[in-house]
Amino acid sequence: MKKVIVTGGAGFIGSNLVRFLIKKKIHTIVIDKLTYAAVPNSFKGIKENKYFDFKRIDITDQKKINSILEKFKPDSIFHLAAESHVDRSIIAPADFISTNIIGTYNLLDCSYSYWKKISQKKKKIFKFLHVSTDEVYGDLKKGDRSFNEKSQYKPNSPYSASKASSDHLVRAWNKTYNLPTIITNCTNNYGPYQNPEKFIPVVIMNAIKEKKIPIYGDGMQIRDWIHVQDHVRGLFEVMKKGKVGKTYNISSKCEKTNIYLANLICEIVEKKMGKKNLKELIDFVRDRPGHDRRYALDNKKVISEIKWVPKIKFEVGIKKTVEWYIGNSNLWKS
Ligand code: NAD
Repeated sequence: MKKVIVTGGAGFIGSNLVRFLIKKKIHTIVIDKLTYAAVPNSFKGIKENKYFDFKRIDITDQKKINSILEKFKPDSIFHLAAESHVDRSIIAPADFISTNIIGTYNLLDCSYSYWKKISQKKKKIFKFLHVSTDEVYGDLKKGDRSFNEKSQYKPNSPYSASKASSDHLVRAWNKTYNLPTIITNCTNNYGPYQNPEKFIPVVIMNAIKEKKIPIYGDGMQIRDWIHVQDHVRGLFEVMKKGKVGKTYNISSKCEKTNIYLANLICEIVEKKMGKKNLKELIDFVRDRPGHDRRYALDNKKVISEIKWVPKIKFEVGIKKTVEWYIGNSNLWKS
């Protein structure tokens, strides 16, 4: 793997992946529309790197995507560009349909045209890795077994339904046209460079600013958390060793209720910043419509077939994440 395209490389997971690839001296071209979700200064310190390139492009733009593929001739594509916030998908689903479904269709179509033309040698290397979410499986009750790669898709929000649709398109482009695709479905990510409107950054930043910390419903929703750097390493390993046409679930098997997490973050901020009584800021607000109760993914397949294991312990990762937000206040305040 010498030259890759990363779509959505200015976002939370994408920017962490780009840093990882550049460290490995893999020439990386980022395609990103730079929506509100792009991380400000996400390319700080790497803009001048000879392995880094950036093109501001909408993934629904067929002409520009074709032209990039022709010019750059990537060995592989990591597809992360998406509208990703469930709350926004409830208020304004149109962008989710456009980017997540039409945009993925466009990338597949352009990739197929490109792939048909390249040499046999390059054809064998090429992979299109589609990065998706555990939310496509719907939700679980307490005590239910975790979802695995054979679980039925039952998405509940416009976001998860649009991601489920894109997963189906990716599968179909492999089955119908033999395009070498792989799908990964991952659990909730946390870590540096996450958009300030997502759950963990909201809790951290409100605790720092001593503002009310909104928690949906009773706060007993369970999410399965993974550090973004474990996810990124998983994507790289799946790209290298994953079997074409297959799906791999990526998870750290780390289930926490939202209220547990909010309390823990308050304790960490109290210790780090010498503040007191931050838990009193927790404010239970009206629940999100169709709010999934529990997500949990089985990770046996990725461990046995890819030999990937999560390395970052949640207690360590979350402390470091809080420290990162405290130390980078200039970045997220903008
Ligand atoms: P993000 O919202 O932080 O970043 C998305 C990026 O995509 C942004 O930089 C944005 O500018 C770009 N983008 C949006 N629409 C675009 C378009 N039409 N054309 C080009 N670029 C566009 O998202 P994230 O949290 O980094 O997630 C990345 C991927 O991983 C998504 O596909 C998401 O579904 C998936 N995923 C996320 C999580 C998570 O916990 N964050 C978990 C599992 C899977």
